[in-house]
Amino acid sequence: MKLNNLSQVLKDQPKYRYVQVNKFLFQDYISDWSEASSLPKSLREELALECPLEIKADIFEDQGRKLSKKALIYLEDGESVETVLIRQKADKKLEKDMEGSDAKADARAHRNTVCISSQIGCPLDCSFCATGQSGFKRNLSAEEIVEQVVFWQRLLKQEAKDEKVDNIVFMGMGEPFLNYNEFIKAAKFINNPETLNIGARRMSVSTAGITEGIKRLAGEKLQMNLAISLHASTDTLRRKLMPVAKKYELEDIFRAVDDYIKKTGRRVMFEYLMMKGVNDSQADAEELSILMRKPLYLINLIPYNETGRFQASTRETIDHFKNTLEKKGVSVTVRLSFGSDISAACGQLKRSVGAKKKMFD
Ligand code: SAH
Repeated sequence: MKLNNLSQVLKDQPKYRYVQVNKFLFQDYISDWSEASSLPKSLREELALECPLEIKADIFEDQGRKLSKKALIYLEDGESVETVLIRQKADKKLEKDMEGSDAKADARAHRNTVCISSQIGCPLDCSFCATGQSGFKRNLSAEEIVEQVVFWQRLLKQEAKDEKVDNIVFMGMGEPFLNYNEFIKAAKFINNPETLNIGARRMSVSTAGITEGIKRLAGEKLQMNLAISLHASTDTLRRKLMPVAKKYELEDIFRAVDDYIKKTGRRVMFEYLMMKGVNDSQADAEELSILMRKPLYLINLIPYNETGRFQASTRETIDHFKNTLEKKGVSVTVRLSFGSDISAACGQLKRSVGAKKKMFD
């Protein structure tokens, strides 16, 4: 898809054409201008030439569960970027219980989550993350970020008319706050009622702790959710796992987060990967509980998706860790197989494609 000539093509058209075109592209999700039936034929032809809509991609399905899919989208310059669709089954019972009530929409709301990338590769080189291992190529443009959502939305629409993307998480490849301008431009576009119209509260961004970005987000009108990749309860361990921790110490991050909470009144989620023998001891849990015992702090324990270097904590260890935190009064959740079923942890698909597309066999 290439829309940078769109304004040029539409410049002599009446104003309402923009509205029409936006609706076709970002609400009807056409994949060919011939579907834009209410536009004059000559305009459709010009658009087809100047603004191709095709999105080139390979889709990888989890044969076992068919609930999640991963895609590699091929970009204009030959680079590729990965994005994941995570489907949660609708809770039929809940849906039935809520029939007719306002909450019904919400009962089915969390069905389709799209995980999007903000960079090609990542400069942060966290030791546990597959993306960092393949290096950093470049930032994505806002259009390339939005394209990932449009891609899944088109696919869902093909499946059923009322299927749609409900949630967006900026948790794919890259560090969104090192590409802040394009990230926020994309987020606002996705939120815009005239385009993709996905509520800000259904959007989350995850950062390794770039405090400048946390500060900027606090000043935005967009009420999206913020998540911080913490993964360690001391700077010493964090520096070993995440080189970026040399620049941003825990104290700086918590100060930025507390200011963010003061300004926005919103909860902040801290992500904590559970890695065997690395950060999952009783002492780690106790240390962490001291840091996390604050209003509007929420910790999310993430079962580690093994990428070669570390091992995942066992289920029992995770449960025990969770109990320790709960006993200390910390709000804690465990991310249920977010992606372990499709190896959704960022960067893994590209690596495995390089290693012969064997991912789901
Ligand atoms: N750079 C941002 C966003 C991308 S990573 C950040 O650091 O938050 C999104 C999340 O996936 C982060 O919490 C990251 O730590 C986590 N992640 C990375 N590798 C993983 C793996 N192998 N298993 C599970 N989660 C992983």
